[in-house]
Amino acid sequence: MHHIGGAWVPPASGSSLRETDPRSGEPSFSIARGSAPDVAHAVAVAQTAQPAWAGRRALERGAVLLAIARGLRAEAASLADIDQVETGRPRPQCLNDVEVSAQYFEFYGGLAPSIEGQTLDLGAGRHCYTRREPYGTVAVILPWNAPLNQAARAVAPALAAGNAMVVKPSEFTSVSTLRLAEVALAAGLPAGLVNVVTGTADEVGEPLVAHPGIAKVAFTGSLRAGRAIGRVAADRVIPVTLELGGKSPDLVFADADLPAAARGAVRGFTVNAGQACIAGSRLLVQRQVMNDFSELVRDELTRLSTGAADHDHIGPIITPAQYVRVCGFLDEARREGATVLGGGQPLPGPGHFVPPTAYVGLPPQSPLLQEEIFGPIGVLVPFDDEAQAVTMANDTPFGLAAGVWTRDLARAHRVAYQLLAGQVYVNEYPGGGIETPFGGYKASGIGREKGREALYHYTQLKTVIMKLE
Ligand code: NAD
Repeated sequence: MHHIGGAWVPPASGSSLRETDPRSGEPSFSIARGSAPDVAHAVAVAQTAQPAWAGRRALERGAVLLAIARGLRAEAASLADIDQVETGRPRPQCLNDVEVSAQYFEFYGGLAPSIEGQTLDLGAGRHCYTRREPYGTVAVILPWNAPLNQAARAVAPALAAGNAMVVKPSEFTSVSTLRLAEVALAAGLPAGLVNVVTGTADEVGEPLVAHPGIAKVAFTGSLRAGRAIGRVAADRVIPVTLELGGKSPDLVFADADLPAAARGAVRGFTVNAGQACIAGSRLLVQRQVMNDFSELVRDELTRLSTGAADHDHIGPIITPAQYVRVCGFLDEARREGATVLGGGQPLPGPGHFVPPTAYVGLPPQSPLLQEEIFGPIGVLVPFDDEAQAVTMANDTPFGLAAGVWTRDLARAHRVAYQLLAGQVYVNEYPGGGIETPFGGYKASGIGREKGREALYHYTQLKTVIMKLE
């Protein structure tokens, strides 16, 4: 069922889709197979509910968001259960995502009353001020790698700013977002503000973006889909936030604390089994420490393990198609004769497990150094000096994140300044939290989520100019 107008609504198609538990490869939840009539219904409901919400005092909107945060924490165990079945991730990660989701509602609940305008001096004869106003109904389209977290990341600031929305989660991980809508309703959010329509990209996503009632799109997902959505939005002249992929570099200088760098860098490309847009999958290592650092990475990889014996650290690849794609990169590395520092073979079933894997000896044009992998695979490449490191780091169409490992503070700032990336992590990977603005340079996206910055992306500015005589 969809969750529309605060109620469970059957799909117009009368049919359903089946999710898969990536730990076993077995079918799991059944979700509604949405289509254009469901989208139209949800948009109409959102448009009806939104003006009253926007008309409430920001402090009151914020109070509802704070109640949603409490509701999420109270439901942490059941939400983590759902997340675990949908994503297969280790339970601590699922629980952490519930906590982070609650923090988004807390943060934007607190910030809601701080949305403010300015007065502008046009002389004694005029009064001029600006207002930050909501767009109306926002389409939120989500991927599968951290479903609840990414839903909360968009829903909380959009609500704080006074918008209503129609959310389309990934067809592989929809249930936690449906549950979020239920928790929000129980916490006192008026019906009709968060509507969840489940289904595929072509049957729900495309009609949603094309719907004339949608005033803005907040999309998280692949570059391919982001481009398609951007084209439709350009035609309709509506704004988009695009949070897309990456091929992020992690720079290890010879003066770094090498054991800490190896731990952090391996974490950087294995976190969430590498299914993280910020995955630091290109490890650029200063040549004089390449051998030492490779050995430290090798040790770190053996410390981590996946598969039947130990699911505590790294979960499975979440979708079957992505599993096939990640295994293709392992085959490619073998064909190219790369040296394996650890991993390199998919783990035997059941489930879609790939061990943490790192390679050395791949040429710059290798697909493993060019394409987003979205699996727990990193490649080490040597560089000679700072200038070359920066050139290599920026030599990609993407610009989501970058890491720098060094003890030299001046170098850290100098390199961070030159890196073309939306976030730069120094001596940790990744870094930041709900407070830190997040988004991409270059093909990694448009706009920013998280932090105060996201609030501005869910508002539009009106200037009022009044003649006083
Ligand atoms: P995807 O682009 O295939 O799908 C994302 C969502 O968009 C899904 O709900 C899908 O059904 C929908 N969709 C796809 N095409 C659409 C279209 N033409 N119109 C409307 N909706 C459409 O991505 P995915 O495979 O689910 O997720 C993996 C990708 O997401 C990776 O590239 C990753 O880097 C990216 N990602 C980015 C961030 C970020 O914040 N920058 C975070 C997580 C994931």
